[in-house]
This record gives sequence, C-alpha cells and structure tokens, in this order.
Amino acid sequence: MSRQYYIAGNWKMHKTRSEAAELAKTLAGQLKDGQHKYLVAPSFTSLETVAAIVKGTNIRLGAQNCAAEEQGAHTGEVSVLQLKDLGVQTIILGHSERRHVYKEDDALINKKVKLALKHGFEVILCIGELLEEREAGKVEAVCETQTVKGLEGVSAAELANIVIAYEPVWAIGTGKTATPEDAEAVHAFTRKVIGRLYGAEAAEKIIIQYGGSVKPDNAAQLMAKENIDGALVGGAALTPDTFVPIAKF
Ligand code: PEP
Repeated sequence: MSRQYYIAGNWKMHKTRSEAAELAKTLAGQLKDGQHKYLVAPSFTSLETVAAIVKGTNIRLGAQNCAAEEQGAHTGEVSVLQLKDLGVQTIILGHSERRHVYKEDDALINKKVKLALKHGFEVILCIGELLEEREAGKVEAVCETQTVKGLEGVSAAELANIVIAYEPVWAIGTGKTATPEDAEAVHAFTRKVIGRLYGAEAAEKIIIQYGGSVKPDNAAQLMAKENIDGALVGGAALTPDTFVPIAKF
C-alpha cells in the first residue's frame, strides 16, 4: 500500500498544561524513530505548551475543534486564526462528541471544514454511525451522508488536506471495537464514495483512519486491513504505555 499510516491521539478534555507537557515530551522521545505519521490533539489550553515541545519533531499538532467563523462575537469559541497563531497544523472536525453531545450538524461541520481548508489546515473529518443506526442497517447511508455533506464544496485540490476517520459511535470510549472485518467494510465503502466524488486516484490516496477503542492489542489486526490507514485514538492516547505501542504497531 502506498498510503502512509497515520496515528493520531485525541486527548479530549484531559490533562493540565504540565500533564500535557509531560506526555508530549515522552511521546516526542519515544516516537522519534517511529515509521508512521503522528499527531497529538490536546485541549485548547495546552496547545501552546505542546506546540513548543513537538515543534521540529515528527509529531503534528492538532486541535479538537474550531469555530465556524473567522472571528467576531462568538463567546467561548476558538477561531482558525487563533489556532494558526499557536502552530496548529490539523483540526479534528465532526467528532461524534461534537455531533451528538454538542449537536453539530453536517452543515455546520461542512462550514468548519471549508474554513479550516481555506486557512491551510489539514482536517480530520470524523464520520460514523450510532448503534441504533447500525442495527437498522443504515451504516452505509449514514457514513455516505456524513462524507458527502461534510465535503460539500471541497475542491479536488483541497481534498489532499482531508483525512477521514471512521469512528462507529458505539465503539468510542466503550471498550467495544468494530471487528477488523466490519471496519474494513465501511472503510472500503467510504473510499468508494470518495472515488465517486473525486475520482479513482483521489480515492486511492485518501487516508482513512479507524477510531473506537483502539488499543495496543487490537491495533495491528485493524491496520492489517487494506483500507484502514491509521487510527484516531482516544482513551489509549492518554498514556505513553498504551499510545506508543499503537503508534509503533
Ligand atoms: C475518539 O475519541 O476519537 C476515540 C476513538 O476514543 P476511544 O479510543 O477512547 O474509543
């Protein structure tokens, strides 16, 4: 496979600045000789601290969200301009917690995706079905809609800065992982959707990560699948003991 594996850690709303610094320093040391592409996404409050540590290393700096507007009267929001100023390179958008807890819909996520791309960020666009949607046989329909609507108005050139993360919602933070076969089926389907939208070459190139209770003992089996190109890791990204073995699978 010509695609590079991409392992990303989403630290969610965990860690003070000193805790984040400690984790980032350990990862920078232990992943120095890692063969894959890496990213850590700390909370906004730790971005500046972690930026100074990962600068010049093989670990990219990610944010977990951004506002849909460049600036203005948006109390409590953080803009792409502010993220760029901090050295952020990648923004995770459409995470299931943003979609389902904070009620972000496809239109809002699409607006953020386009704004982030306009400002030169790489975007990790998360998609994935709820348990009831899986049980109702709607996995493909949900993932197709989230992909198509999330990428509405995104040009073929901009697609080079898009990574998709397939994260079945029922597998996030629950300890339940999709089987490698179930995940592979959705990844292959999503790649086909990209092919329909952007052509075969773009589909072949796009990185599709899997997320949902990825752990050191299941990472290799998932990554062995043809269409699984990396992982977006939550819980296991919070300690080097669990993240490093995944990152070096
Ligand atoms: C995530 O937050 O994107 C995630 C996949 O979390 P976890 O690995 O804890 O399931």
